[in-house]
Amino acid sequence: MSIKAKTKASGLSGTIDYQLTKTTYTFGVQCLKRLYMEKHEPALATPDAPSTELRKMRGVEIGNLAHSLYPKGILIERDSEKPAHEATREAMENGALTIFEATFIYDGVLVRVDVLNRKNKKAPWQLIEVKSSTHLKKEHLPDLAIQTWVLKNCKVPLEGTYLMHVDNSKPFPATQDLMKLTEDLSEEIDEHIEEVPKRIKEMKKVLSSKKPPEAKIGTQCEAPWKCPFKEQCWKNVPEPSILDLYRYPVDERYDLYHSGIVKITDKRIEPTNEIAKRMIEVEKKKKPHFNKELVRNKLTNEWQLPYYYLDFETISTPIPRFNKVKPYNKVPIQFSLHIQEKQNGKATHKEYLHSDGSDPRPAIAKALCEAIGNKGTILAFNGSFEAAILKSLAAAVPKYASQLKLMAERIEDPQILFREAIYDSKFLGSFSLKIVAPAILGAKFDYNLLEISEGGAVELFFDEMNQESTPGKKKEELRKQLLAYCKVDTEALVELTNWLWSKLSKGE
Ligand code: SF4
Repeated sequence: MSIKAKTKASGLSGTIDYQLTKTTYTFGVQCLKRLYMEKHEPALATPDAPSTELRKMRGVEIGNLAHSLYPKGILIERDSEKPAHEATREAMENGALTIFEATFIYDGVLVRVDVLNRKNKKAPWQLIEVKSSTHLKKEHLPDLAIQTWVLKNCKVPLEGTYLMHVDNSKPFPATQDLMKLTEDLSEEIDEHIEEVPKRIKEMKKVLSSKKPPEAKIGTQCEAPWKCPFKEQCWKNVPEPSILDLYRYPVDERYDLYHSGIVKITDKRIEPTNEIAKRMIEVEKKKKPHFNKELVRNKLTNEWQLPYYYLDFETISTPIPRFNKVKPYNKVPIQFSLHIQEKQNGKATHKEYLHSDGSDPRPAIAKALCEAIGNKGTILAFNGSFEAAILKSLAAAVPKYASQLKLMAERIEDPQILFREAIYDSKFLGSFSLKIVAPAILGAKFDYNLLEISEGGAVELFFDEMNQESTPGKKKEELRKQLLAYCKVDTEALVELTNWLWSKLSKGE
């Protein structure tokens, strides 16, 4: 499969046909089958999760910020009449010092360089890749290598290859100095550049094949990016399988799987921890695990009524928006709180969602301090997160600092109790609320049925709700969906706690 550019005019490379881009090249490095599927079977891909969409959106914001650092930079448009690689050549010949999306093609590989920069018209170029991450990651190296390889073969004189990333030590209102350039990475990418010709040959062969290459499932299905074809390749993996075994060394679990040890009840498996042992026992006995003594001790001796069930939703942006916030700091934008005065009693509900573009922290701190009394346990699933948010609120809103710090100390985490005392076959080795709640309480807590089914969507919905251009009716819809998503977490927690009490009282 080849993509034809608009004219047959020769560019810097002498040809304008291409089969690969820097993005598809990185897919091929992740897995050759993924590369094939992206080209030949794109309809089988699972649509992007909100977290992926969010990452792309933030990437665009960071790209724009990087461009603003070079006010005289020339952008090579993708959709203009002139082929992008020709426009790039012209800009270079006309003495441009900075070019955005500079486009080159060599041996069927097209790359667009985020920023190509030089100090003066005679100086060699800096190849700069812009990322919204806070540091260089190993998955960036093949991406940098393919660009460098193409440019070198297009005879572009290079001074070095760099990554521009977010500097997460810079608090708001940093903007111009928010981006940081690495040292020259030429040495780091050397061995990746050596692999490029062989890899390209292999990838082209795969792309021209009539069927996908054989590929064993493995760590590459989840990292560095979750593969959108997982549903296809994993459809025959039973649940639970050795791949779900709690904290089992990740490479070993795939080795075992491919050697035919698939079920967690296989006698040859040696569990490495208590929870893994428990998972196997539960599967063998076909009976959930429930350690009554641990549950009783926790509920009767440690958790104090009234119970405050608390959940925060946060945003975490690369470009900070509020005073003293650093890139990717988590800023709370809403909370849901259920209050239960009596064991198994009816719970009342309070909630707060910040609905304009101002700093949400003062209003959230105030609403929390008005809603949570001085006595009783604050229950939060994965409560270290809520405790950290309360402490960050205390630092940001001194007026309520002492109350908020005391709240953080009152947090108890039911997830720890579940991990220590309870296991059901449907947990599949996970103790996340999104798995535990439907496993114990049934389909009414199936998060997939909500408009927002994962945290990544919260930030997308929140941003859309606060945009001036969003119509009022749409804003109201988004508000309802955000409130519903946060509320379901504390509702689930109330019901899980009621379920724990009922298990104790049944004398099972
Ligand atoms: S799910 Fe795994 S094996 Fe299948 S295409 Fe994706 S990365 Fe390759």
